[in-house]
Amino acid sequence: MKRRKFIQSAALTGLGLTVGTALTACEDEKNAAVKTAATGTTSTNTKPVRPLVIATWNTPLAVETAAKVLQNGGSVLDAVEQGCRIEEANEKGQSVGKGGLPDRDGNVTLDACIMDKHGNYGAVLGVKNIMHVISLARKVMEDTPHVMLVGEGAEKFAYEKGFKKEDLLTEASKKAWEEWKVKSEYKPIINIENHDTIGMLAIDKNGDISGACTTSGLAYKMAGRVGDSPIIGGGLFVDNEIGGASATGLGEEVLKTVGSFLIVELMRQGKSPQEACEEAIRRIVEKPNSDFKNFQVGYIAVNKQGETGAYSIHEYFSYNLYKEKENKNIQSDFYNKTK
Ligand code: ASP
Repeated sequence: MKRRKFIQSAALTGLGLTVGTALTACEDEKNAAVKTAATGTTSTNTKPVRPLVIATWNTPLAVETAAKVLQNGGSVLDAVEQGCRIEEANEKGQSVGKGGLPDRDGNVTLDACIMDKHGNYGAVLGVKNIMHVISLARKVMEDTPHVMLVGEGAEKFAYEKGFKKEDLLTEASKKAWEEWKVKSEYKPIINIENHDTIGMLAIDKNGDISGACTTSGLAYKMAGRVGDSPIIGGGLFVDNEIGGASATGLGEEVLKTVGSFLIVELMRQGKSPQEACEEAIRRIVEKPNSDFKNFQVGYIAVNKQGETGAYSIHEYFSYNLYKEKENKNIQSDFYNKTK
């Protein structure tokens, strides 16, 4: 909670990032019935809302930063990268970037991925000592013939590209880890406050889409554990013809259902972003023997027309949405209504 208050007050006290002018939908597309590219399904939304930024959790400053990039004529890829960097630099957020909670051995390791409007993808997994892994993922995408770099190789590549080496373990996260070590209980905790992974999707005024996702993963994970966040189709998927989706929560469950890819494919078949997010959550909770009462997963999605959706297993998942000059934190609807 402290972290979220910090972000809110930082936004209010004016880091110079207020989005002051209207970012309006394309005039020529107003009132036009929109057809989804692959199916020909006519959307009910007659006014495409662009530009638009959506991100997991209470991340107003990150979303505002991304919106500002779009407002200033920056690319949609720059927007999601710059937005995610805000959370990576926020030491108070304990599951992204600097200040992330460490693995069980006390090492902070970060995962991130990014996708552009051409369907290109870059990712880094299990990276120590580098704060802005979202930018490193972009470098993998743009400056190598590969899509993923892991561990020491990714770190070495970072130094080659001029990234700074820094200790990511803050005093607060070290203290939390030392307290955890007393009992060393290793179980994925049902999320209320434990996941703050940022997944961000943005559309510019032309309708081009990019996405990014960055995390320190599960607190006190086994050394070497990687979740959904840096995996294409798991924590993030973007198809510029259709839309994008991103995930937060217990990555193992997202990966087993290829959640973000599933959502985009459901939208391709004509489902709205909201319907697609709900179906992806159902795929997890309705499995025989699903243990869903004990973990959280949340999804966000956007389609080419700027319609958005969000859904989680449990209460308290929220997302920030920037559209039509407003940047709001919104509570997501959720599956498990039993208390
Ligand atoms: N999805 C992330 C992971 O499993 C965790 C999170 O969302 O906090 O690594």
